[in-house]
Formats: sequence, C-alpha cells, structure tokens
Amino acid sequence: MSRIDLKNMITEKMSYHPITLSFPNEIESDFRKTYFQNSIVQVRVALVLVMILYGVFGFLDFLMFPEYAETFIKLRFFMVIPFISLIFLLSFLKVFSKIWQFLLSLAYVVGGLGIITMTQFEPEFNEYYAGLILIFFSGYLFVKIRFFWATGAGWLILLIYNLIANFLIDTSSAVIISNNFFFVSANLIGMFAAYYMELQSRKNFFLNQKLDEEKILIENLNKNLEKKVEERSIELIREKNHTEAINANISAIIEGTQDGIWAINTKNEILYLNQVFKERFYKVFGVYLEEGLCIVDFLPESIRKTWEMRYERVLRNEQFRIEDEIMIGEELTYLQFKFNPIVKKGKVVGASCFASNITYRKLAELEIVKAKERAEESDRLKSAFLANMSHEIRTPMNGILGFAGLLKEPDLSGDKQNEYIEIIEESGNRMLNIINDIVDISKIEAGLVELKIERTNVNDLLEHIHSFFLPEARSKGLQIKLLNQDVAAPIIIDTDKEKLYAILSNLVKNAIKYTVEGSIDLACIMNGEKLEFFVKDTGIGIPESKQEKIFERFMQADVSTTRQHEGAGLGLSIARAFVHMLQGEIHLESKPGIGSVFSFSIPIKEVKKQEEILADT
Ligand code: ADP
Repeated sequence: MSRIDLKNMITEKMSYHPITLSFPNEIESDFRKTYFQNSIVQVRVALVLVMILYGVFGFLDFLMFPEYAETFIKLRFFMVIPFISLIFLLSFLKVFSKIWQFLLSLAYVVGGLGIITMTQFEPEFNEYYAGLILIFFSGYLFVKIRFFWATGAGWLILLIYNLIANFLIDTSSAVIISNNFFFVSANLIGMFAAYYMELQSRKNFFLNQKLDEEKILIENLNKNLEKKVEERSIELIREKNHTEAINANISAIIEGTQDGIWAINTKNEILYLNQVFKERFYKVFGVYLEEGLCIVDFLPESIRKTWEMRYERVLRNEQFRIEDEIMIGEELTYLQFKFNPIVKKGKVVGASCFASNITYRKLAELEIVKAKERAEESDRLKSAFLANMSHEIRTPMNGILGFAGLLKEPDLSGDKQNEYIEIIEESGNRMLNIINDIVDISKIEAGLVELKIERTNVNDLLEHIHSFFLPEARSKGLQIKLLNQDVAAPIIIDTDKEKLYAILSNLVKNAIKYTVEGSIDLACIMNGEKLEFFVKDTGIGIPESKQEKIFERFMQADVSTTRQHEGAGLGLSIARAFVHMLQGEIHLESKPGIGSVFSFSIPIKEVKKQEEILADT
C-alpha cells in the first residue's frame, strides 16, 4: 500500500446510522463484540450494585410504609433481585453476548416496573418516584445498555407508568403531570447521555480499528522495508565479493605480468605502480618510486623533456606506442611503451602506461633483417659469381680451343707453333688454378682439409715465392722486394708448408694483380711468440666498407660486370681459412689509390734457427 492510500485511510470519516448509531458495514459486528468484551465486567458490577441498592432500599420500606413493607420486600427480594441475579448468572454463559442487550433492557424494564408498582400503593406520596429516576439513571448510563435499547426500554417504562397512573390507579393529574416532567426529562437527558456515550465509544472503536489497520499496514511496510533492506544487503555483499574477486584477479594479473605497469593523474603524480615497474625504474635510475610522487621529477634531465611530452600527449587523450632502447644494468634492453588515457565522463583524468620488454623480439627482428640482407647478398654474389665464372672459364677455354685450332695450320712456322702452345699452356694453367681454388674452397667448407706439419725453412719459402713472381711483376713494370731476409740465420719452424705457401702466393698474386705501378714488398718478422708476414703493395687499395667482406668467398671489391681484373673471388677466403687452420689471424690495412698491406701472424710452437738445427744433429 502506498503512502497516499494510507493517508486516505486515516482521514476516512466514520459513517453510522443517526438513530441506531450502527455502522453500515461489517465492522458493526466487530464493534458489538468489542463493546461486549469491554462492558461485561462493568455490567456484572452494575448488576450486583443494582441488586444491593434494590435490597438496601428495603429499609426505606419499613421506615416509610411499614404497612406495605412485606409486599415491597417480596417485590424486591422475590421478583426483581432474583430476576437480576438470573441475568447476572446468564452473563457467564456464551450465549449472553448475543442477547445481553435484550436481557439488560428487560432487567431495566423489570426494575422500573418494580418501582412503579411500589409507587402505586401511595400514588400521591412523592418519595418513591425518585427511585424511578434512579432506575432511568442506571438504565441509560450504568448497565451499559446501548442507546437504542435503553431509549426503547426507558420510554416503555414511562408508558407503563402513565397507563397505570391514568387508567388503573387513581392518581391526581398534578402528580402525573409533575412526575412526567421529571420522567420525560430523565429520559431525554438519559437518551442524550447514552447517545453521546455510545457515539464516543463507537468513535474510539473506529479510531482504534483504524489505528490497528494502520499498525498492521505500517508493520507490513516495515516488513517489506526490512525484506528489501535484507535483499539489498545480500546484493551489496554479493557485489562486494564479486568486486573483491575481480580486484584480486586484476592485481594478480597486474603483479604477475612481466610488464611494468603504472598510472598517473593529470599532474603526472603516480596513482598506481606494480612491482616490476618499481624495480625496473630503480635499476635504471636508482630511485624507488611510490604512489603520489610526480614521476617526471625523478627522471634525469637528459630525458625529462621527452617524457613530459609523452605524458602531455596521452593526457590530451591520445593513445600511442613508443619503442625505446634503455640500458638496464649492463644490458641493452628494448622496451615498448604503451600509453592509454583514462577517461571518466568524457574527461581525461589520467593515463595508464605499460612497458614491455621486447628485447628478445627485437633481436630476433634484427637477426631476421641481417639474415635477409645476407640472403640478398649471397643471391647477388651467386649471380656475380656465375657471370664471373663463366667469364673466367670461357676466356682460357677460348684460348685453348682457338690456339689448338690454329696449330692445325699446315704451314705454321716452328716459332708460331711454340708461341701457340705456350698460350694453350698458360690458359690451361689458369683453368687449373680456378679449378684448384674451387676444389680447395669446397674441401675447406666440407672440413676435408687436413694439416700436414713439416719442418719448414721460412726464408727458403719466401725466396721461392719472390723468384716465382718476379717475372710476372717485372712484366707489369713492378718491383718486388723481399725484406728482412737474414740468409745467415734463416727461420725454421714446424708448420704446414704447402698452406703457408698457398697463403703467401695468393697475397702476392693479388698484390701484383691489383697494382698498376710501384712495388710490392714481402717481409716476415718474428714478434714474440708469433711469426708475422707482410705483403705490401702500392696498388688500387680497397675501400673501408669492403675490407671485411673481401675475405668472404666470391667477394670482390669490384663486382661490376665491367671490372678489369680476372679472378673468382676465392683467393682471400682460402688464405684466411688456411691462416685460421694454422691458428693465426689475418689483417688488412688499405687506402684506395694508395695501396694495401695484408698481414698475417701464426703462432710458433718451435722456432729454430739454422745453426740450432745443425747443433741438434
Ligand atoms: P679475386 O680472384 O677476385 O682476386 P680474392 O679473394 O683473391 O679474389 O680477392 C677478393 C677481392 O679483394 C678482389 O676481387 C679485389 O677486389 C680485392 N683485393 C684483393 N687483394 C687486393 C689488393 N692487393 N689490392 C686491392 N684489392 C685487392
């Protein structure tokens, strides 16, 4: 029931029959029940009192009318008092509640009749008429007879008196009239009093009932309210548990992740930070951050501006990612930062930031880029190598086939024949060199090359190389010099003579090939535990960017198709592989247009001078 219904009910007017005073609806029977329950004690007390008074007034009979006293006493004690006693006894029966008004009215009338009877013995004598006034008084006001019944009975008594006084007993009109004045007045006063008393008790009843209804209503409302409060409380507890569970999950996620996570407000003050971020920040900047601190205050001057701008961007409601390289301890770490604005009711109130370590991914990416570059390079090399090779093989082949054909000429002079045969031999050698190089590099790569250590006179070896290349150098107008040669005390070591020879001849061959004018120096120096060899030329030189690469197979400084020099790009990679096999290192210093110095060192396990060897034997 709503508040309005409740208000209507409270202000509802009591309606009743103006004469009978009955309620028009079912509450009448409730009223009667209540009225009975509320009255029954008073009724019994009144009946007893009436009986006592009726008895006590017997004294008056002896005093006033000793001659009628016997009759009056009989009237009192054998009629009226027994009748009232009977009603008193009946009041203890259940049925009494149904007929009590009728019985009490009857008692009222009987009481009245008793007095009337007594008055008629001496009708002109006024004393006993006062008794009837008392009867009216108690009938209307005392024994709880309801207005309607009391009025009926009251007027009936008056009617009976008048009938008796006028027709049966000889009474003077003055007495009748004066009595009627009193009796009618008593009846009227009694009626009014009874009317308003009953009306009052009906009003009380009505109000009480309304109050009861309201009480029930309020109790119901209270119950509903309590139920609602209880339901809401359960709901709130459930929501709280749910939120707590979510919060627990979120913090487990936030604290369990490898990412640094932090959030700031619009003043760059830290709202939240997880342990990972705290520790990482400490490692990088040596500061343990805490909630409430202004994050940019703790950044070094060099990067503060950058970070202020990043936070400004995100606080302008921009979502973005940034990758940074940072030194964490000794390690170069790649971090990816994600910035997300925190928006509440359409307004940016802060930002959440994430820092993921992407070093592993970044290195893999860089590796992929390198691998791709390598793949492209090797593809390019392969093409260059194929073009180069076909040229390198075709040139001597053409020489061989061409001059072999010319040899068939019948009129060929002996000189010409020799010349052609020499060219065929030269071309054959060139082809053989290429094939040897290819075979060597294949063997090296297949791990099939083995060392053959033997006693080696380094001076003899250098001498041999010098004299071998001297004609070729001279034919190009170049000088070739052998430096630091102490013929008296030659260096003798245990090494793979053939590999050392191959290394040096490759370097000298290149020096001659890539030098147009000037000289080539060949030297060997003892340097502590190592023996260092130098091949210096005044040739075209090698640009710095190519200096590393030329040691790789098929790599040439000039890979253009219009290059001037023959060669398969294998010589240096074979040389380096052999140097490594001898546990040495090869180096290059070169300047384009000025010349190059190739040097390599090999460790000497046992170095013996000639005289020592002689002494040994
Ligand atoms: P190639 O058969 O091409 O000579 P190498 O492996 O011997 O193959 O040399 C690789 C490249 O290194 C050459 O193509 C050349 O560009 C460069 N190079 C080698 N030695 C010299 C040098 N002394 N002066 C200038 N460039 C050189």
